[in-house]
Amino acid sequence: MSRVYNFSAGPAVLPESVLREAADEMLDYRGTGMSVMEMSHRSKAYQAIIDQAEADLRKLMGIPENYKVLFMQGGASQQFAMVPMNLMKNKVADYIITGQWAKKAWQEAKLYGQANAVASSADKTFSYIPDCSDLPISEDADYVYICENNTIYGTKFHRLPNTKGKDLVADVSSCFLSEPVDVAKYGMLYGGVQKNIGPAGVVIAVIREDLIREDVLPGTPTMLRYKTHADNGSMYNTPPAYGIYICGKVFKWLLDMGGLEVMGQINEKKAAVLYDFLDSSTLFRGTVVKQDRSLMNVPFVTGSTELDAKFVAEAAEAGFVNLKGHRTVGGMRASIYNAMPIEGVEKLVQFMEKFEKENR
Ligand SMILES: *Cc1c(COP(=O)(O)O)cnc(C)c1O
Repeated sequence: MSRVYNFSAGPAVLPESVLREAADEMLDYRGTGMSVMEMSHRSKAYQAIIDQAEADLRKLMGIPENYKVLFMQGGASQQFAMVPMNLMKNKVADYIITGQWAKKAWQEAKLYGQANAVASSADKTFSYIPDCSDLPISEDADYVYICENNTIYGTKFHRLPNTKGKDLVADVSSCFLSEPVDVAKYGMLYGGVQKNIGPAGVVIAVIREDLIREDVLPGTPTMLRYKTHADNGSMYNTPPAYGIYICGKVFKWLLDMGGLEVMGQINEKKAAVLYDFLDSSTLFRGTVVKQDRSLMNVPFVTGSTELDAKFVAEAAEAGFVNLKGHRTVGGMRASIYNAMPIEGVEKLVQFMEKFEKENR
């Protein structure tokens, strides 16, 4: 068996110890004589798994009592519709457009009400975060929406926008659990777990209780109401049971590491290895404004599409895989999520140094 250094943007690298544990428990989960995959979600054993996962997530993020944790399906993209369907009381919301995921969410919201783009960084191919200290927030906006970490373009809100008292809704898919978070600053945050937490198929929402309402937009399907999931402990129907079990193991792994404070420090250090190299390189350069750089997704280019392609191919040969940039932007992107060890980034930089010497 040989494992590669996997820089995929998602589904992405998971902690090896978690995968080993899951393998050990595959045929017989703790004396039940069956895999978690084969288990009734109404069983005592499974209830304990989901309860523990929620408790550990609450501990990790310091989630206040008046917030619910919901485990759902449909990916982050389904939230693009669920958010307006459930939260658009006045049918008005303000969106900050910092990349493709925010744009998709904004376009989806327009199906349900008046969705305003109050700021955008489209003018410079989303290479920065706009100034959000004094935006024209709508008087009757039900919420202000951001994509906190832009997986494709590699930018991150290092300071949350001034929402002028409106509830903030954030898609945190690609920065979930990457550093400490103050949940109370959000009305709701959510993320697909396949970027930094677990296998695709689970989306986790953390939502303040008063935003879970009965009076959703007319026609909202039962399954797309937060209330349905909140009232039933995320078990209105069969949840993505095995995925939640793996998420739970990753939560434990994070707690064992020392929690989000420690994880955040590791991530800063890890990202600095790559950014410092990019800043000093005569061949490679990062594509994002320095102060808005993501700790998780690092896009870079050589300036030549032929050299970019050569680099991606040779890197893969050498065991550094999935470094090709998003199909819409080209170049390279290294996603260096929680489970990417720092040695992976150090070795990648050594490989880049060698490539630079050979191709100058
Ligand atoms: C990947 C991603 C999505 C889309 O996630 P799906 O689960 O595939 O719907 C949405 N937002 C962000 C920030 C992402 O990184």
